[in-house]
Amino acid sequence: MTAELIDGKAYAARVREKVRERVAALSAETGQSPGLAVVLVGQDPASEVYVRSKGKQALEAGMKSFEHRLPANTREAELLELIERLNEDPLVHGILVQLPLPAHLDPRQVINTISPVKDVDGFHTTNVGMVGTGQDAIVPCTPLGCMMMLRHYHDDFRGKTALVIGHSNVVGKPMGRLLLNADCTVMVAHKSSTNIPELARLADIVVVAAGVPGLVKADWIKPGATVIDVGINRIPAPEKGEGKHRLVGDVDFENVRKVAGAITPVPGGVGPMTIACLLANTLSAYCHLHQLPDEPLLLDEQDPS
Ligand code: NAD
Repeated sequence: MTAELIDGKAYAARVREKVRERVAALSAETGQSPGLAVVLVGQDPASEVYVRSKGKQALEAGMKSFEHRLPANTREAELLELIERLNEDPLVHGILVQLPLPAHLDPRQVINTISPVKDVDGFHTTNVGMVGTGQDAIVPCTPLGCMMMLRHYHDDFRGKTALVIGHSNVVGKPMGRLLLNADCTVMVAHKSSTNIPELARLADIVVVAAGVPGLVKADWIKPGATVIDVGINRIPAPEKGEGKHRLVGDVDFENVRKVAGAITPVPGGVGPMTIACLLANTLSAYCHLHQLPDEPLLLDEQDPS
């Protein structure tokens, strides 16, 4: 068996198109387009790339993009003041503070200063608690993207078993909660778990977000299982030339794809869906703030599979 490739790039293009269409219609109706404010503190090169990409894609979706770049030595009080101004700004519907923050800033305090209704990353304690108790809330972008792709392969999670590897607040924990909210039977493993291969062999769905290249092996996978690889790891690629790198996921892709039923590649799997879901969350926040109906953005039969 060779697994079907889950084309995250094509799904993401479809989500962005749906967002763009809805933004155009709603902006024509209200005379105002959704606004996304992205705050970057310091000059982390990877964060710079993410922030540029988020701003560009927001503009392409017909949204307004506001970038706030602050020096690495910004005092916490200054950052919190900026967030409070953005909370009050009627042109801003979504606020995102790019993580990681410089070490002297407390990410929990910073994130919890964002108004929960503008917290388009879904990291505010209120949104985390609401998702955890199965209420409607802003869901973190990466697990939201994984769920959208999984729903395309599993229209019903009841009776299915999932293993989530990784229990970070950004990916693993919300992923587990979303699957549980969908009545999936969920196991969550992490670096202190000692029996991951055995747990994985029970799973119809494996989602891995560990940051360990090639962690998930072919003999861990139940034949036909759906495998979602969230990991993004930069490893040396001497075959591309001296000092060159390439991106790989947390799955031993070439071998796992011979056993799995469907699998996301890295790159081109979960990554593109994350920013597409940020746009979807910004649109939802805008609808909520303007008391407009917010239809869930689902991928449908016409979408790529
Ligand atoms: P993190 O470092 O916060 O958490 C890693 C998790 O993996 C922890 O729960 C840890 O216990 C677990 N873990 C580590 N080593 C393990 C092992 N050997 N076996 C089992 N579990 C292990 O990382 P994160 O922010 O959740 O990100 C995880 C990976 O996903 C990284 O590669 C990151 O770059 C990637 N990521 C990708 C996207 C995307 O859009 N595709 C978004 C966020 C994170």
